[in-house]
Amino acid sequence: MVPVPLTSPFSLRTILTNGIDRKVTAIERYVANNCYLVHTPAGAFRTKWVINCAGAFASDISEMHGYPNYPVRDFKGEYFVLDKKAGAFLKTPVYHAPNDRGGFSTHATPTVDGNVLVGPDSYITEEWEDYKCTKDHLDGLIRDGSKMFEQMRREFSIRNFAGIRWKRVDEEGNVLDSKLESDQQHNPNTVNLVGIESPGVTCALPLARRAVARLVAVEKPEVNEKFDPVRPALKRFYDMTREEQAEAIAADPEYGEIVCRCETVTRAEIRRAIHNPLGVHTVTGIKNRTRATMGRCQGGYCETRITEMIEQELGIKPTEVRYSHADSYMFTGPVRSGNAQDETTEGSVNA
Ligand SMILES: Cc1cc2nc3c(=O)[nH]c(=O)nc-3n(C[C@H](O)[C@H](O)[C@H](O)COP(=O)(O)OP(=O)(O)OC[C@H]3O[C@@H](n4cnc5c(N)ncnc54)[C@H](O)[C@@H]3O)c2cc1C
Repeated sequence: MVPVPLTSPFSLRTILTNGIDRKVTAIERYVANNCYLVHTPAGAFRTKWVINCAGAFASDISEMHGYPNYPVRDFKGEYFVLDKKAGAFLKTPVYHAPNDRGGFSTHATPTVDGNVLVGPDSYITEEWEDYKCTKDHLDGLIRDGSKMFEQMRREFSIRNFAGIRWKRVDEEGNVLDSKLESDQQHNPNTVNLVGIESPGVTCALPLARRAVARLVAVEKPEVNEKFDPVRPALKRFYDMTREEQAEAIAADPEYGEIVCRCETVTRAEIRRAIHNPLGVHTVTGIKNRTRATMGRCQGGYCETRITEMIEQELGIKPTEVRYSHADSYMFTGPVRSGNAQDETTEGSVNA
């Protein structure tokens, strides 16, 4: 056996909670040990299997573990998120008929939480990771969206965002189907998923089952008859009856403190999101788990409170709290230092 240069102890929690610092940069195969070493800036992880489902970066990872670096093209789409007030007027998704390429573009979709999404449009962008929203495209969404949803009006808008569908293309730029492959002979114990674009969310479970089937075919693990795949959802404070809310507050007084007023998210729920086994430590992480900051004011009221909670609960400095990705620090340093009087004087001199 070749000694594998060990590594950070593998833990799902460490990978997930520090995921933004653990971008995979290289994958080494140790044939004699029948394992891979997955390198990240925060250390390396030893694993028997590598399943590549890295979205935008799937082609890079593909190459790292022995498959081609498949060409992909970025088809960008912009969206409007409308206030729940607009949601009252829409109970079912509205699509136009498929266009001549068989695809859909802008449509209006009520979300399970009562908002409405209008979008996406679709265009190729030349910039890498170009997530900005643009006036021309937002105007286009209003024009097209209002044909299928009368309330598609700017006053209902609470946020815009853009996403990129990474489509696999051939050398001429023709769009190809997405790929799920494994090659036990040349790249053993790997599954490679590239170009998983729309409808990748709808297909997530079938894709996951197929990826797992490749692993099961090789490993032939014993079936755990006791495994219960159903995980009961945690009831949100917002969805509780008055009696359930009173019980929750009696058991944990932090349920009695609303941090996000628009979406009625309590301090107890945010604390639980930070500390649960797959805990989060960014403002966006809290948003995705609890809906805090997703309401009408878009975090105007609660974002600083959430930032403070992350600081306190994780025992980190204000300048260490991030919004989402690796460099998105909420604060880069103090706004004022020293004597407030001096600051004012200096400010006015500079002005
Ligand atoms: C505008 C738009 C509209 C869409 N509409 C629909 C729709 O209506 N229905 C539908 O079903 N789907 C839709 N999709 C597609 C869907 O969003 C994607 O197919 C799906 O999110 C892909 O999931 P994924 O897990 O493969 O990749 P992602 O969700 O991109 O996840 C990849 C993960 O890998 C991580 N990662 C990447 N590189 C590295 C690295 N080097 N090291 C470590 N981690 C890494 C990323 O951080 C990320 O967490 C739409 C997409 C867009 C952009």
